[in-house]
Amino acid sequence: MKIALGSDHAGFELKEKIKKFLGEKGIEFEDKGTFSEESVDYPDFGYSVAKDVSEGKADLGILVCGTGIGMSIVANKLPKVRAAFVFNEYTARMAKAHTNANVLVFPGRILNFEYTKELIISFLETSFEGGRHQRRLSKIREIEDKILSTNSEKDIFTYWMKDLKRFDPEIFQAYIREIERQEYSINLIASENMTSLRVLSVMLNPMNNKYAEGYPNRRYYGGCEFVDIAEELAKERIKILFGAEHANVQPHSGTQANQAVYLAFLNPGDKILSLELSSGGHLSHGAKVNFSGKIYQPVFYNVDEKTHMIDIEKVRDIARKERPKIIIAGASSYPRSIDFKAFAEVAKEVGAYLLADIAHPAGLIAGGVFPSPVGYADFITMTTHKTLRGPRGAVILSRAEYAKKIDSAVFPGSQGGPFMHVILAKAVCFKEAMEPDFKDYVGQIVKNAQALASEFINLGYKVVTGGTDSHIVLLDLSLKGVSGGEAEVFLYKAGIIVNKNVIPFDPRPPMNPSGIRLGTPSITTRGMKEEESRFIACLIDKVISSKGDEKVIESVRKEVRDLCSNFKYYSSLISAIA
Ligand SMILES: *Cc1c(COP(=O)(O)O)cnc(C)c1O
Repeated sequence: MKIALGSDHAGFELKEKIKKFLGEKGIEFEDKGTFSEESVDYPDFGYSVAKDVSEGKADLGILVCGTGIGMSIVANKLPKVRAAFVFNEYTARMAKAHTNANVLVFPGRILNFEYTKELIISFLETSFEGGRHQRRLSKIREIEDKILSTNSEKDIFTYWMKDLKRFDPEIFQAYIREIERQEYSINLIASENMTSLRVLSVMLNPMNNKYAEGYPNRRYYGGCEFVDIAEELAKERIKILFGAEHANVQPHSGTQANQAVYLAFLNPGDKILSLELSSGGHLSHGAKVNFSGKIYQPVFYNVDEKTHMIDIEKVRDIARKERPKIIIAGASSYPRSIDFKAFAEVAKEVGAYLLADIAHPAGLIAGGVFPSPVGYADFITMTTHKTLRGPRGAVILSRAEYAKKIDSAVFPGSQGGPFMHVILAKAVCFKEAMEPDFKDYVGQIVKNAQALASEFINLGYKVVTGGTDSHIVLLDLSLKGVSGGEAEVFLYKAGIIVNKNVIPFDPRPPMNPSGIRLGTPSITTRGMKEEESRFIACLIDKVISSKGDEKVIESVRKEVRDLCSNFKYYSSLISAIA
């Protein structure tokens, strides 16, 4: 039996006498201080003794301070410590019999040594009764474990953020202010989301260090057995999630996924038929400024002039005339569902490949609330960070027959070493997307977008296509006397983040178009429902109708803050480092 002893200045005299007594009894002890009557802070000595007990370096701790209260509080902060405040014979016996205390705390200003000695003897001569008392002690341990595990979940973030605050304060400022910006604004950028803390934290892992060029079991470097597990699981899960035959989970971004598909199946100069940027298409589908428009020959289809929806007959006419090598179905700001089956028929008729770029609706498709291109498209590219709510990155799905060509177009064709830490996080994201509540989540995304759209229609706005089937609402502001660019700036000042967007056949220039694009993935992640969506539509209307009036912006900013405070998401992070 080994005892750790400690006191502050008020307990010093009693501690010294206890020490002498232990020595006479031949009990092994270690004196952790204090060593004089000079004024000191009791937590320093309480901690030192309790730590030895907590870590098993001492079997029992004895602490003395003036009242015994401060030392009790300190000692009981440490895991596995059961510190008992003992002041008479009964509490000394019960401290052992019922609570099996491992630290005894005495009030040095109240008890004399002779009395205290008897209490120590009583405690040592009593046995723990076990039974129902053991059950109660086990419950105390369970509480400790719960607290420890919640602390350590936050730990990896908070520990390193606190380190960053000290080591690199300039970067820390940008970091913390970005978290606060996300927490206290309403983010309606359709391509963004709020990734779970689970997915964010698993990205912080040493698979970052591993070069794993190649594919599982066929790598160019040794030591890949564990990153192989992560990549295999990511592939398996995304295949199950979409019912696909082949998956490549290595593309770093949606653009690079598209690049790999082109590289695998097109030659420079081959024709790509895709939705024009001004109708909601994407840069990587053949825009002049993008590699896809420089290396390949783009031809475009547009949405219908009246309905602003894709008219598959028009696509068919262009395809027949142009004979493209590949047709792309998919967009960045198209609010409606896409008939992949009809696209597949057109592609088949003209002998073109069909690429479905589901960068935006991937999560909606995984959760079954948006039509799936699986079974229709030859290749499917998606990002993992939009509605799928995962780490930044992308995936290519295809039929098994194209597996080899796609894999070699990703590596070594267009990428080097894969980001294995991100692939691990992709696997976790896909597991989250397989949970039943992910279906509820994506269903709510669409309900929220529909609530936004119908509220805007009530408020007298033109909603492109008259509504939405997805997470996107395209708002035409041409009746409101405000451009998309102005609206973006006014709303930003009010804490509502949207992006200016061209509307189909926009008379205004692309740099300051007539519309704004709104999306509901982020607000839905933080728990907002239809009621909040309608409220947000009203806030947006207030700002736009006022044409950016400072007073209105200020009052809406306050309402936005209040709303965000009721739907906290990263607050645990913010408070942990504050
Ligand atoms: C967002 C998007 C992409 C590209 O994603 P990045 O990861 O930004 O390269 C590709 N296609 C479409 C339709 C998109 O909306």
